[in-house]
Amino acid sequence: FTAVRQVRRPEGVPVPEDFAVVTGTAPDLRAGQVLVQNLYLSVDPYMRGLMRREGWARGFGLEGRSLGRVVESRDPALPEGTTVFHHHGWATHAVLTGDEVRTVVAPPGVPLPAYLGVLGGTGLTAFVGLTRIARLQPGEDLFVSAAAGGVGGSVGQIARLLGAGRIIGSAGTPAKVRYLIDVLGFDAAFDYHDASVTEQLAAAAPDGIDVCFENVGGDHLEAALAALRTRGRVAWCGAIAEYNNPEDPPAAPRNLAEIMRKDLRVEGFGVRDHLDARADLEALVIPHIQAGRIRVDQTVVDGFDRIVDAFLGLLRGENTGKMLVRVAD
Ligand code: NDP
Repeated sequence: FTAVRQVRRPEGVPVPEDFAVVTGTAPDLRAGQVLVQNLYLSVDPYMRGLMRREGWARGFGLEGRSLGRVVESRDPALPEGTTVFHHHGWATHAVLTGDEVRTVVAPPGVPLPAYLGVLGGTGLTAFVGLTRIARLQPGEDLFVSAAAGGVGGSVGQIARLLGAGRIIGSAGTPAKVRYLIDVLGFDAAFDYHDASVTEQLAAAAPDGIDVCFENVGGDHLEAALAALRTRGRVAWCGAIAEYNNPEDPPAAPRNLAEIMRKDLRVEGFGVRDHLDARADLEALVIPHIQAGRIRVDQTVVDGFDRIVDAFLGLLRGENTGKMLVRVAD
């Protein structure tokens, strides 16, 4: 196997030297174990947080959601050829037991890597934030930040299925803004580099918004608090603007009193507490993927040797849709 491990704690923005490649031979399987060849690996912003503490090693590499194929089996319930989801990422192979994997059978018309994107934790985060946290109602207007990313793109598409009113997104490049409008069908979108987020959101939503799905924090959240109508809700999913420098976060929203003035509800959440919603997500989304109404857009970096590039690129915004690494077909 080949795997990547963390060798030092990054200062600020991580660099390739924070990681090292290791190789080795997988041990002989014991009864109940399977050898999995990884096909797709997910790189995610939360991993930047894990890099601050020791102990995110898992299996041969580091924790990470992965899709792989059983290539050797000593578990009759997981014969060779079975496709599985597991958490031993950052490696070409993993030795796993049945309780560490979930079998994945992609229905016709559903690409396998969707199970790391709109049908994986990414889509589940979007679904839970909209339905359980913000409790989006038909006709309500929505703003989502980091809208062209994995979670953000799922939020826009799932919100449309839920009957949202106007959907507005922010992103970091003109190409992503065009993608949001032309490809994902957002009603409005803007590049947060162009002018203050508050001004741009006010221009895009002159009558205000009902719900904010917040992925960035800082000035984005401040803009949302200004734009929200009475009894609006914020599903606070992430704060990527501060992950590299938590000691020196962006100025917090200066208008927190809006929460009180407008009876707003601002609620953080973690998808880990809502894994029971997966069946509802699949029931809603799979038919729309099959009908071509939900796009499974992903940025796929080819080759295990590029996993560190993919992770660093994700933090720099090089992805449109979910960022994945293809290890094998
Ligand atoms: P994305 O695919 O959205 O990738 C991250 C994106 O963030 C980049 O593409 C980049 O896009 C944007 N970005 C990076 N730095 C900044 C910055 N300083 N300011 C504004 N935008 C920035 O990742 P995910 O979809 O996996 O995650 C999105 C958010 O959801 C993250 O905050 C993540 O932590 C959170 N999350 C929370 C979960 C939960 O359980 N609460 C579960 C999963 C994710 P751009 O070019 O537009 O800048």
